[in-house]
Amino acid sequence: MNLDGKICIITGGASGIGFEIAKKFAAAGGKVAIADINVDAAKTAAKSLGEGHLGVDMDVTEPDAVQRGVDKVIDAHGRVDVLLSNAGIQMVKRVEEFTLEEWRKVVSIHLDGAFLTSKAVLPHMYKQGSGTILYMGSVHSQEASALKAPYVAAKHGLMGLARTIAKEGGEKGVRTNVICPGFVKTPLVEKQIPEQARDLGLSEEEVVNRVMLGETVDKQFTTVEDVAHTALFLATFPSNALTGQSIVVSHGWRMD
Ligand code: NAD
Repeated sequence: MNLDGKICIITGGASGIGFEIAKKFAAAGGKVAIADINVDAAKTAAKSLGEGHLGVDMDVTEPDAVQRGVDKVIDAHGRVDVLLSNAGIQMVKRVEEFTLEEWRKVVSIHLDGAFLTSKAVLPHMYKQGSGTILYMGSVHSQEASALKAPYVAAKHGLMGLARTIAKEGGEKGVRTNVICPGFVKTPLVEKQIPEQARDLGLSEEEVVNRVMLGETVDKQFTTVEDVAHTALFLATFPSNALTGQSIVVSHGWRMD
């Protein structure tokens, strides 16, 4: 699976899953632009990949920041071949406890971020006649869990956006797919364990074994490597045969 100098933008690539995918894409020959709201971390992460990779300042909820970031990649490389819209956050509380501001923040990072970055790269991909857009969904693109209303709603929404762009982009050589991981131990998940224990009245061990891993086939966390492997498979898939789809990578949690 080779990316052969392909130009890849990864949002939220300074940490966790996005950074592991950045390493995988770079090792496969891609030139990676790590676009993150934490610009210092993005630059450090890009530097750690070696020559030719970029750290880009981008808040994915801000249209001007997204356009500036994509323009920077186009100025440097003249094209963009892969977009991975991955930036995300989580907040856990019951629906009646979420403020509208909190709801909007979670939905905006996931859905506005996916829309704005797609809108910025699509004209370039259409001009080239090729491109791949990947969205970082979740098992929560297809399944719900208590305490995660805006996250679950936004992750379901990514499926609709991906399927629409698959239809609009098909004849122009642009494919789009959604990666749906189960629980992966990153800062985003580490933070939730004590929060869910408090809100559900469980011990942290019970949150891990019952809430997070209870429906897996082997009580194992999915790893960042598992997700990166799936991302590389989708990024290098050679035709429109695989578009508008999702792949669940979750140790068997949520089987269709
Ligand atoms: P993480 O917290 O390690 O990384 C998230 C990254 O997004 C950080 O670098 C952060 O700075 C960046 N970010 C946050 N807000 C941003 C914004 N407005 N603009 C640009 N960048 C922003 O989290 P992670 O676990 O690696 O999550 C990455 C993606 O994977 C998210 O979309 C998450 O929903 C999804 N996901 C995670 C899991 C899991 O169990 N960890 C499971 C399924 C899906």
